[in-house]
Amino acid sequence: MECNDIVPNLEFYKNLCAHISDAVYLIEPDSSKILWVNPAGYKDLLMDEDDVLHQSVLSLQKDVIGPQQWSSIAQVIHETKRFTFIGNHKRKNGTIFPVEVITSVIQYQGKELFLSIARDITNRQLQEADLIGREKNIWTAINASSDGVWDWNIIDNSVYFSPSLKRMLGYGPDEMETKVETWKNNIHPHDLSRVMQALEEHIQGTRERYESVYRLKNRNGHYLWVHDIGCITERLKNGEVLNLTGIVRDITDYKTHELRLMEMAAYDELTHLRNRRECIRIFDKQLEFAARSKHQLSVLLFDLDFFKTVNDRYGHLAGDQVLKDIAQILSQHVRKSDYLFRWGGEEFMLICPSTSREEVCILAEKLRNVIEKHITHYQNITISITASFGLASYPENAQSREELTLSADSALYTAKSKGRNCVVYAKTQPGQVTL
Ligand code: GH3
Ligand code: MG
Ligand code: MG
Repeated sequence: MECNDIVPNLEFYKNLCAHISDAVYLIEPDSSKILWVNPAGYKDLLMDEDDVLHQSVLSLQKDVIGPQQWSSIAQVIHETKRFTFIGNHKRKNGTIFPVEVITSVIQYQGKELFLSIARDITNRQLQEADLIGREKNIWTAINASSDGVWDWNIIDNSVYFSPSLKRMLGYGPDEMETKVETWKNNIHPHDLSRVMQALEEHIQGTRERYESVYRLKNRNGHYLWVHDIGCITERLKNGEVLNLTGIVRDITDYKTHELRLMEMAAYDELTHLRNRRECIRIFDKQLEFAARSKHQLSVLLFDLDFFKTVNDRYGHLAGDQVLKDIAQILSQHVRKSDYLFRWGGEEFMLICPSTSREEVCILAEKLRNVIEKHITHYQNITISITASFGLASYPENAQSREELTLSADSALYTAKSKGRNCVVYAKTQPGQVTL
């Protein structure tokens, strides 16, 4: 049987209408009387079929319109053949709900009738109101910047991610699930608690706005540095936070540059070792940790012997090559837990956390030996060099960074006067060295 072979009769239509959720009315155009109604038509109104049948369609309306107005409406329906009307229907218990009524003209047994389909649009209106609210918040933020925008409803935990934010992270328009975990899961694990704290402080009212710089993973798994600023955009009547809106800016280039500058400020250009400024910072940190954890800490201060002669004999560039070489072989021979620095000129400092006097003496002897054995090749010449070592330990020789450095320095001085290329351990006791 073909589709075209089915000829629907009245029963078919009645059955069809009985199963749809919209209200369907057949109306007599002249009198406005309801001639027929489907179950949804009277159930929506909390009425029985008889309450509705043969009543004027105007009685369903909240705002009762007189017969005069009906005739002008009927005229329009008659002319346009299809008329859409947004109004309010009144239930039997007096409550009111919004409806969209589409009325069309049909011919039945030679007579013109109106077929009205009324749909309850309560939910649609709520959604539209919600959408208008959201759009207002989002566009306020977008107007301030063209960067990525997010809009987070805290109560139902849904998040709107703007197309520009998705683009920034390499996602397509239909990707990124609209929940807060999508964002949280992409924050670098080292940054997550800091970001959450900033957010919480704003929600609790101790910060005027939420602001954070952190790493956010893109679709490829690479991290972007972002600057994220947001604020509460909506509250419930009881003051509870409902909505937060924010703007995300990709600052990867700026941050990379900043990190590079920080690196340049912390590292020596010639040897690529950390410089003295960095040494002081790490020294203080490690000493504080040693004091707190009651661990020992040892330092080696060492200086290349007769280095001036290298410069004088082979030139400054050859001297530079020796410094680079020594820095490289030292880096290979120090332990992972130790920190090596270029203290200045041809002097180096090694900080060895959790290292005793005995251990540091062995380590210094090993390094002295490595330097002595190394040969620097520069153009067609070979250069050998030695170094003298001064050692001191916390808390055995000194308590503070300054005291420890001076203790190691005086031990180094002794090593030089002993004939160089040797290791000398400090003899001082805490409080003995004058700063
Ligand atoms: P000592 O055994 O007593 O330490 O003798 P020394 O010649 O090593 O000591 P001195 O302090 O007289 O000379 C250190 C030299 O290191 C002087 C300086 O020109 C040189 N120097 C410092 N920094 C650099 C550098 O970056 N490159 C080069 N080529 N030489 C440097
Ligand atoms: Mg020297
Ligand atoms: Mg020197």
